[in-house]
Amino acid sequence: MDVYALIGNPVGHSLSPPMHEAGYDAIGLDAKYVTFEPAADAGAAAVDAADTLGVDGLNVTAPFKQDVLGAVEPAPLAERIGAVNTIDFTGETPTGHNTDAVGAVRALKHHDVTLDGTAVVVGAGGAGRAAAFGLADEGMTVRIANRTEARAHDLADAVPGASGHGLDGLGEFLADADVLVNATSVGMDEDETPVPSGALHGDLAVLDAVYSPIETRLLRDAAAAGARTVDGAWMLLYQGVEAFEIWTGRDAPVSAMNEALRAGLGSAAPARD
Ligand code: NAP
Repeated sequence: MDVYALIGNPVGHSLSPPMHEAGYDAIGLDAKYVTFEPAADAGAAAVDAADTLGVDGLNVTAPFKQDVLGAVEPAPLAERIGAVNTIDFTGETPTGHNTDAVGAVRALKHHDVTLDGTAVVVGAGGAGRAAAFGLADEGMTVRIANRTEARAHDLADAVPGASGHGLDGLGEFLADADVLVNATSVGMDEDETPVPSGALHGDLAVLDAVYSPIETRLLRDAAAAGARTVDGAWMLLYQGVEAFEIWTGRDAPVSAMNEALRAGLGSAAPARD
């Protein structure tokens, strides 16, 4: 039996076990997906332990995504982003990948969003870094807007062709944008949005990285403005799909994983999966 695992602290809320195990069932793979909650300073030690124990693949979530960099050989994209969320143990040394970037890109592509033109990424934390690198690598011109403006500038310096901004000018530089990604945590705990509704328009595709709740205020505002909307569960799904494919070398059963994820989130899988 293959064993895959997730480390995070806390990790009890994670929907990765049902999502991945639905994938194993769908392709007839004899595998389990388990979670571990190491102490906050023990991320790298947990990677070594997983390697020693013969775990086949490891997902990494907060607060360990940066800490584990020293315990793996990072793939080029993970190194540029500065964070690892998926570790593959099949080679000589554990390889660290970042599938959050691909998750954002594949979530948008799943909804037939053409990734050219201009993207505005709001947020410059982990999700913002991943989305900015992912969309820039697709050829988009990326504008990064963050509450702490200096963080947006730092990230923009690292992302090819990107510019950094505060949140004040959002209305102005969203006017000609094609894609908007909310990569802040705003919308998660309260029914709030980081983007004024008047700045949204019908030529935008809007991805909200927040997946709990599924329908955020930003997505409601975006739909009302005639924009295409992509909820955060799609990004969560596709970061898992990408990890599944790295570990197993097989195409992931996306529909089965999506159904399990949506069931866990308490929302029915949309017909379009
Ligand atoms: P993080 O590294 O802690 O970054 C948080 C970001 O949110 C920062 O840019 C921060 O701005 C901004 N922010 C926080 N409170 C704000 C406020 N009141 N007003 C404006 N900006 C605010 O967190 P993260 O890991 O990037 O996660 C961000 C969100 O993405 C979370 O909701 C997380 O669940 C979600 N996420 C989803 C996926 C997925 O697969 N769907 C993957 C990863 C993360 P400052 O720099 O100014 O503090």
